[in-house]
Amino acid sequence: MKISSNFDSGNIEVISVENPENIQVKIRKDTNSNKHQWFYFRLTGAEGYPCKINIINASTAAYPYWENYQAVASYDKVTWFRVPTTYKDNKLVINHKPEFNSVFYAYFAPFTYEQHLKLISTAQHSDVCILESIGETVQGRDIDLLIAGNPTPEKLNIWIVARQHPGETMAEWFMQGLIARLFDEDDAVSRVLLDKATFYIVPNMNLDGSILGNQRFNSLGIDLNREWQKPSLEKSPEVFFVRKYMENTGVDLFLDIHGDEEIPYNFVSDMNGIPNFDERLKIIQEKFLNNWMQICPDFQREHGYPATPPGEANLNIATKYIGNTFKCLSLTIEQPFKDNNNLPDPVFGWSPERAIKFGASILNSILYIADDLR
Ligand code: ZN
Repeated sequence: MKISSNFDSGNIEVISVENPENIQVKIRKDTNSNKHQWFYFRLTGAEGYPCKINIINASTAAYPYWENYQAVASYDKVTWFRVPTTYKDNKLVINHKPEFNSVFYAYFAPFTYEQHLKLISTAQHSDVCILESIGETVQGRDIDLLIAGNPTPEKLNIWIVARQHPGETMAEWFMQGLIARLFDEDDAVSRVLLDKATFYIVPNMNLDGSILGNQRFNSLGIDLNREWQKPSLEKSPEVFFVRKYMENTGVDLFLDIHGDEEIPYNFVSDMNGIPNFDERLKIIQEKFLNNWMQICPDFQREHGYPATPPGEANLNIATKYIGNTFKCLSLTIEQPFKDNNNLPDPVFGWSPERAIKFGASILNSILYIADDLR
């Protein structure tokens, strides 16, 4: 029996695999940081053995909200199903009898760099899309920006980014659904939207962190979502280049897609707390969120983060900085690592398929408020 993680987005350290009923592993820290959370590894040679994989440093993870959490597994890296997982004595224990000799386990269904490149190359075949490489990450990878809808001064500028936190892979699954629908020339909502707006889309803000198997940081241990007031070309070029491009286009709507380790619902972190938040923005925000809740039962507003007191938003966070600077609607969208408890799915939990549909659904609500955005 063997465990390995030496591949795109892999993360684990092996302590012992001698006894299938007491396999011991440890999550590696994010590069240049002291925090750990994301895991993704392959177990081979265990077909038919009831395995207990103990993640022995789960209690010191950055977000140790393991209650009701079930890890995902896959034989083919296409279908990711949940496997019985318990949290006891500071250890996260995955209990599974593999049906094949090669099985992958992960914190959530991975969205690898190869999948990212495929997403980009598929998108560029669309007649409505232009691909621009707007800069390089710390490790020299292209920062891909998809531009949809011919830019003209009259049109709205809508920016949507994802995976500032690379382990939040559901964010790029969300983008896959949103992009596929937006570029579908048979979709009436998308056609009207592209008449009204130019979309600027960054499906993965943190490519280095994604490949390295990080949860939160880029390759230098920087949290990109705390860099927006003063991004640095050396330490956070991913933010530096995107922000610079935004300053040229202007922004009428900004959405930043994330995942949340604790709360088993889809929710947003809204604009309350931003110094420039005013009555106009409040009306648009309410209209948008209430519409999304109506048309998509996977979205709700009851559960989420506590409200930020007026004026106290942290402007180093992307949506807070952009909303305040451009005085536009600007929201952080959070999806669960666990499941949506309003519509639970015991086999798959919150899954790539659901994130894809959730991402596609938001276009209706963007259209609903499009004429109010400027
Ligand atoms: Zn995040």
